[in-house]
Amino acid sequence: MKPTNPVFTGIDTTVFETMSRLAMAHEAVNLGQGFPDVDGPEDIRGVAAEALIAGPNQYPPMLGLPALRQAVADANKRFYGLDVDPGSEVMVTSGATEALADCLFALVSPGDEVVLIEPLYDCYLPLVKQAGGVPVRVRVTPPTWGLDREALRQAFSEKTKAILINNPMNPTAKVFSESELQLIADLCVEHDVYAICDEVYEHLVFDGARHLPLMGFDGMRERTVRIGSAGKTFSLTGWKVGYVTGPAALMDPIAKAHQWVTFTTPPNLQKAVAYGLAKDDSYFSGLAGDLTAKRDRMAAGLAALGFSVLPCAATYFLTCGIAGLGLGATDVEACETLVRDAGVAAVPVSAFYGSDAPTGFIRFCFCKREEVIDEALARLSAFLTADRAESA
Ligand code: PMP
Ligand code: GLN
Repeated sequence: MKPTNPVFTGIDTTVFETMSRLAMAHEAVNLGQGFPDVDGPEDIRGVAAEALIAGPNQYPPMLGLPALRQAVADANKRFYGLDVDPGSEVMVTSGATEALADCLFALVSPGDEVVLIEPLYDCYLPLVKQAGGVPVRVRVTPPTWGLDREALRQAFSEKTKAILINNPMNPTAKVFSESELQLIADLCVEHDVYAICDEVYEHLVFDGARHLPLMGFDGMRERTVRIGSAGKTFSLTGWKVGYVTGPAALMDPIAKAHQWVTFTTPPNLQKAVAYGLAKDDSYFSGLAGDLTAKRDRMAAGLAALGFSVLPCAATYFLTCGIAGLGLGATDVEACETLVRDAGVAAVPVSAFYGSDAPTGFIRFCFCKREEVIDEALARLSAFLTADRAESA
């Protein structure tokens, strides 16, 4: 038989699914895959439920319900001062994942180079490759996850078509500084490069920091597409409702990619997300405040157990160094040990690299109820204490 597509053949199942399956098999507390353990606001779910019964439940317009496209444009103005035309500059997708595929398929041609910043979200490499793009990887480095500016400069050339940047960043919980973003913007303008901005964690930013969309930098409005996700903004990850904002000239091919990938997204969910985006400021600040408290609770507990907890400015995730804990030779081994013997699932950070990954870091997801965080910490404590006693 002829070989099937190597981009998808023989590659591993995503680490998030793998760890969730292991968590279930071992009845572990699942701090691996990033999802909240409490559903998002009941009023938003209520709007979706009512719309499901009242209908219509037929194909909505391909680019999204007008109400949601308007709500996305309004949110761009309200949160970032960006003027966006809902009719030509916004499109609704089935999650940010579909939006990423649409943008890459529409903007990248075979042979084009695409700059990616490692560690990177795991769908980026296969999607770039399927688009025919050539990934050019640049790193941010622990413990501060500072960007290697010289390496970034070197990564841009005449062949560069796009940079794909995740800000705030999974799994590092980094928020790119204004000067880092300025450098990225300058390079994009200098080399005539598109920016695909995965900003699904835009509202999960802590300690009074503000999210700065790259789209708002000088010269970037006409070359940037910005991706958001209702999954993250409303703690409804299973809904898979995403949205893309970009200049009309780029949205045109992106919409053509969307029409052959999913075509539309469930109309009742779109209606509810439109309602959600119009919620008042207290909802958005409350979400960040709630997550800050969970971050602090888990970070303090992990640090007390001997994990080297790295700074966390945003997202759902804490990354920790595991040196000296005796959990195994690599992050993968450590996660296997923890899920099997401690009953706590985490994710190895090496899964977020194309090659030559550091192997001393694991990621814990903290968007869980207090009692769940405490249970996980108690299990880790019991395991680490027992382990130390045995090996002492
Ligand atoms: N980008 C990043 C950085 C993510 O962490 C995730 C996971 N939620 C996604 C994209 C995918 O988002 P969605 O579930 O809306 O497809
Ligand atoms: N974004 C989530 C994470 O980083 C996982 C989403 C998924 O499983 N595809 O954990």
